[in-house]
Amino acid sequence: MRKMTEYNKLNPKSVSVVVPVYNEKENLPAFIGRTMEVLDGLGCPVELILVDDGSRDGSPAIISEAAKQHPGRITGIFFNRNYGQHTAVIAGLSESRGEIVVTLDADLQNPPEEIPKLVAKADEGYDVVGTVRVGRQDSPFRKLFSWLINQVTAKTTGVRMKDYGCMLRAYSRPVVDAILQCPERSTFIPVLANTFADKTAEIEVAHAERPAGESKYNILKLINLQFDLLTSMTTFPLRLLSFIGAIISLIGIGFGLFLLIMRLLAGPDWAAQGVFTLFAILFFFVGAQFIAMGLIGEYVGRIYQEARGRPRYFVRERVGASSLPDIKINSST
Ligand code: UDP
Ligand code: MG
Repeated sequence: MRKMTEYNKLNPKSVSVVVPVYNEKENLPAFIGRTMEVLDGLGCPVELILVDDGSRDGSPAIISEAAKQHPGRITGIFFNRNYGQHTAVIAGLSESRGEIVVTLDADLQNPPEEIPKLVAKADEGYDVVGTVRVGRQDSPFRKLFSWLINQVTAKTTGVRMKDYGCMLRAYSRPVVDAILQCPERSTFIPVLANTFADKTAEIEVAHAERPAGESKYNILKLINLQFDLLTSMTTFPLRLLSFIGAIISLIGIGFGLFLLIMRLLAGPDWAAQGVFTLFAILFFFVGAQFIAMGLIGEYVGRIYQEARGRPRYFVRERVGASSLPDIKINSST
């Protein structure tokens, strides 16, 4: 892993742009042209990393050709099959070397012309620069879904951002390195980045309609993404089980007590001769079952967290060097 001192040595600043590509043949030539033009204008070392996520439409050929035409500045990475947008971005991040890394989509919905704005903001010292899509060009259904996702995400992660869905984002090198230390399989990068970020900012960017091709996300993929997001961040849903169980049990006990008092006051005929008492007992046991499931869930959650093997912490910076000789047997440096 790189050390902070190395980050400061990167001078002048360098910028990597990471782009997932899945069947974007029609958009790629314009995208590459516009992006390279913008990157040339930045006036610092740049690289464009195009990750082909198993396209079947000739996108890989276009990427190879572009890499040949811009040696040292365009890198192509090709998956054997389709793994999904976030996996493609992770592959791109691990290849990137820039001090600031920008991610965006290849379909020209995120105008490449917004890259300098993001870089400038990141340059002010923000670890994550998110974006809010102004005049978003998606179907009302997509917008509603995104709104829901943003609400849930903000609640569960505690980092309030207006638009988690927009992949036009900039990350600082330390945050990218931290993301790459997470070996888990399902990720939602914007959220993961926020868990490692120190300072975050959000700026407004334009959003365009897809010039060609169609969205690669159908309702099923969207739901999958939502589950990735929720389960990658929290084990709260599991905890909810115990919570609900405890409430049901308490209702059962309360109801039982109420029946007991009424039985004493109003006699045995009251409450359908004990039928209601059965309900109270049932409530209690159903609740107890939920609590037990929640307990098991608690273990499952912990196993999940261990299995995910995320780094327990991320050292952002180290100051001062020890003068003691290094006598550690398993020194990892
Ligand atoms: N993408 C990908 N793999 C997939 C689906 C999408 O690499 O399985 C890429 C796609 O080529 C585009 C970006 O991810 O560059 C966003 O996809 P899309 O435009 O379909 O998503 P939307 O804009 O509808 O959210
Ligand atoms: Mg799109």
